[in-house]
Order: sequence, then structure tokens, then C-alpha cells
Amino acid sequence: MYRKPLTKLFIVIGSLCTAFALVCCTIAFVRMFLASSETRKGQETLEAQIEEMEEMKKEIKKAEKREKKRLEEEEEKIKQEPEETPYVHPSKTPTPTASPTPTPLSSNEEGTVSGPSENKREEREQAATGTGHVVGIDPGHQGPHVDMSDTEPNGPGSTEMKAKATAGTSGAYSGLGEYQLNLDVSLRVQQILQDRGYRVVMTRTDNDTAISNAERALLAADEGAEIYVRIHANGSDDHGVQGALSMCPSQDNPYVSELYGESLRLSQGLLDAYCAATGFENRGVQFYDNMTGINWSRVPVTILEMGFMTNEHDDLAMADAGFQQTMAEGIADGIDAYFAGSGQ
Ligand SMILES: [Zn+2]
Repeated sequence: MYRKPLTKLFIVIGSLCTAFALVCCTIAFVRMFLASSETRKGQETLEAQIEEMEEMKKEIKKAEKREKKRLEEEEEKIKQEPEETPYVHPSKTPTPTASPTPTPLSSNEEGTVSGPSENKREEREQAATGTGHVVGIDPGHQGPHVDMSDTEPNGPGSTEMKAKATAGTSGAYSGLGEYQLNLDVSLRVQQILQDRGYRVVMTRTDNDTAISNAERALLAADEGAEIYVRIHANGSDDHGVQGALSMCPSQDNPYVSELYGESLRLSQGLLDAYCAATGFENRGVQFYDNMTGINWSRVPVTILEMGFMTNEHDDLAMADAGFQQTMAEGIADGIDAYFAGSGQ
């Protein structure tokens, strides 16, 4: 009697306990499952983040590599290119001209006309355009207080003697001495050329230096000048005569005939660039064979007669400091054009 209900009770209690245990186990299992799934999720998220970071690292490395390569290429370029590329003025097509009736010169370096020459010699090979070219600049004449009346041979081996240097002309309207104008413009040319990457050899940088025309030519070559540019201004009894011209040895010059071709190219290019910059009348290239400073040259040589100091327009324009800068830039452009044409 008592057993049965007691047994039932035990059975019920046992069943309840089992059920409870089962529920507990299930809850525990679900919790564990949930917890593990959370961990997995967390792990997955972490892994995804790590992967993302790895990708970013790779991208950064790639970008670094690209930047490094770019820098290396740039460095290589800089090594190949000159430090400072001289500005190259678009040169005009050279039109070699020779004035058949050269204007008589009153007081610049004396010379006689040997006549135009049409034939060109084979041009000497020159280095390509770029930094490091050496240019000889000769500001013509010197101060009036410097005695240069002693004489020297008109050319190597010549028995003809000429004054070591002459006094030059002066501005009929400005009163400016040619020696001063030549120096002022030449110093500006020196600065411009140096800024464009050239090395410049000056035969004088003041008005007190006593140096002859032959000595100037030799100095320029000895100091490594590749071309020799002589800066002068002109004078004429006829005050109506104006404009610029350049002087070049002829191909029959007894001393420097081998320099004829390159000297003509230099004379023409320089004059054209100068006239383009200043708007001065272009009187063409003239040929002279008894100029001491030309005959003693060892490198292509030219004399630029920048304008007529006996002409009101030319004289007053050339006396202006601002215009002198324009003149100097024109001369530098002509020198650029010469070296730009050397490599062709
Ligand atoms: Zn002169």
C-alpha cells in the first residue's frame, strides 16, 4: 500500500530530476554552443581584421616600392640632365649676309673690308648644348687713362704692327664712353650666361686693366673659352647710320681661316638674336682680316657692334640701363643659339 505511492513518488521525483538535469544540460550545451559560436565569430572578425591589415601592409609596401622606384628614376634623370639647362631662344633661320658696302668705322677697332665670302667650310664638331660651356667675353677698349699706344703684331708672325688697343668711340648724344658701355653690357651678359649655366671668361671687369687685343684673345683661349665674343659699339661720320652688325674673319684670313665657318655661324646667330631682342636694324655680317683681336683668336670669334653711338636713336637707347639688360639678353640668346646648333 505504502510502497506504491512511495514508488510513484520516487518515480515522479526521479523523472523530474532527470527532466531538470536534461534541461540543465541543454541550457549548458546551448550556452557552450553560443559561447563557442561567439568566440568563432570573434575569431572570424579578428582574422578578417588581421587579413585587412595584412592587405593594407601589402598596399603600403607596394606604394613604398612605387615611390622608391619613382625617386630612383628622378635621380637618374637629374644625373643625366644638366643642373641648369640654359634657356634656348628659338633661333631664326640664319641668312648669311655680307654687306657689300660696309659702313666706314670712325673710331672702333680699325680694319679694312676684305669682301663677302659665300663658301662655308665644313663646320667643326662641337659638344652638345648644355651646361658647362665656356664663353670668352671681351668688353672692347679700356678707360682713357690707360695707355695702350704700344704696338703689337696684327697677327701671329705678322710684321704689321698695330696699337695694343684703341680708345673707342663715345656717345654723340649721351656722352657715354664706348669703353664704359661695352663693360656695362658685358657684365650683364656675364651674369645672364652664368645664370644659364655657362662659365664665362672676362678679359676685363674694370676700366683700369691694361690688356692688349692680342693678349685678350689668347687669354680667352687659355682659360678654356670655346668661343670668343667681343663687345663693341660703332661710330660713323654720318649720324644717320644706325643699327647693329657683326664682324667675322673671312675664309681667306691668313691666320684663322680654319675658324671661318664657325665664326660666321656665331657672328650671324649672335647678330640675329641681338637684333630680335633690341629691334635694332640688322646690318649683317661683315668680314675683316686685319683685326688683331680676331687674328690672334684660337676659337670661333666675332665682334658685335651693338649700335652706332653717333646715331641719336641708337646712342640714347644704348645708354639706358633697362635697355642694356635687353641688349645683354639678346647677346646671351645668340650664344645659346650657337651652342644649340653645335650638336646638329
Ligand atoms: Zn670699339
